[in-house]
Amino acid sequence: MISLEEARQKILSHVGNAGVIEVGLADAWGGILAEQLVADAYYPTADRSTMDGYVIGGDEVPGTFHVIGEIPAGTFPEIPLGKGEALRIFTGALIPQGGGRVVMQEDVTRDGDHVSIKAFSENRFIREKGSEAAPGDVVLEKGTKLGGAELAILAQIGEVRPKILRKPVVRHIATGSELVAPDQIPGRGEIRDTNSNLLAGLFKSLGVEISDSRRVADDPQAISEIAEGDWDLLLISGGASVGDYDFGAETLKRLGFTIHFDKVNLRPGKPLIFATRGNQVAFVIPGNPISHFVSFHVAIRLAVERLAGLPCHWNFLPLEIRGGEPLRPDPRDSFWVARVSVEDGKLFVTPKSWSTSGNTFSLAGTNALVRVKSGAPADGVVETLLLDLPESIA
Ligand code: AMP
Ligand code: MG
Repeated sequence: MISLEEARQKILSHVGNAGVIEVGLADAWGGILAEQLVADAYYPTADRSTMDGYVIGGDEVPGTFHVIGEIPAGTFPEIPLGKGEALRIFTGALIPQGGGRVVMQEDVTRDGDHVSIKAFSENRFIREKGSEAAPGDVVLEKGTKLGGAELAILAQIGEVRPKILRKPVVRHIATGSELVAPDQIPGRGEIRDTNSNLLAGLFKSLGVEISDSRRVADDPQAISEIAEGDWDLLLISGGASVGDYDFGAETLKRLGFTIHFDKVNLRPGKPLIFATRGNQVAFVIPGNPISHFVSFHVAIRLAVERLAGLPCHWNFLPLEIRGGEPLRPDPRDSFWVARVSVEDGKLFVTPKSWSTSGNTFSLAGTNALVRVKSGAPADGVVETLLLDLPESIA
């Protein structure tokens, strides 16, 4: 049995990214940028007005100026501005040659083709050429997740075919002769399969889809047949332990996988198996729902982050416990489903009650995991992994 830290280290050293693809800007949202991007030009490309008003030429002395024309945004000012002259200008328009400053229209008095200006403000109201970036300046780092703001930056530099990391192809197999589909009424000895939906949802929250999910009985031949394929990540639910009907490890060995660990000092989730074959990654996950939930967040998620190039989510906050289930000290590295809430600007954590890892309903409202390492205090302030931002009621 290895520690969770050793298990995570093994995942890091055996899992790489799933490769790079090029996509159109419209399909790039949520992608992870696979290259560093630099400015292709000066930004702004030329001096531009930041106000609607008048650009004035010559000596910067307040007084009366002759208005010789106008420069709307999108036009190029051909006429140079001379001493005592002004041009009507609008936000974003280019500053003509000879233009030293812009005066807001609120600060002038216009009379026919003249404007008089009593005083200049300190602000010249000009965005200078290159003040934001010069050609070659880094505008987005490799590994950046592309949201709306980043897509705007891609658009700004004309990068319409960004290279992003390919999302991994994920196959899931729920094993267990007792499983029936959620729309069935379980017969004697049968239960509804909940893990398939649990994993589908957890993966979606990372922006990765499980493209193929099936249920199969505890039959090593059938499991192997479904497991074979050219996916990037295989998840086998159930059969991770050493019972007579646990075929996870056997299946992976049969398919030529190397097993890197098959037991982790973890509660719940001890019989977690991690294996690879070339670039393909596989986990066999102990079947209980809370074991699934915890295994996903502490181990499987790390493999997905590696495959998809996502930033690693593993920051524990020391939070004060408020109410909830008393945490039992345990010789294993234990994780408790919990709910974090905000009160008066402070975060608190409330462990949820669960009698066994077979509980499903205890997962309701969970937005955090509390970690209690062997020998660590199980009350007061505890290490909390926030899974979602705590909500407040509007
Ligand atoms: P196993 O890991 O196969 O020994 O299963 C451990 C427990 O989890 C057993 O009680 C199983 O019935 C249950 N279980 C296994 N797979 C699922 C599933 N897909 N949905 C809900 N419970 C499951
Ligand atoms: Mg089973």
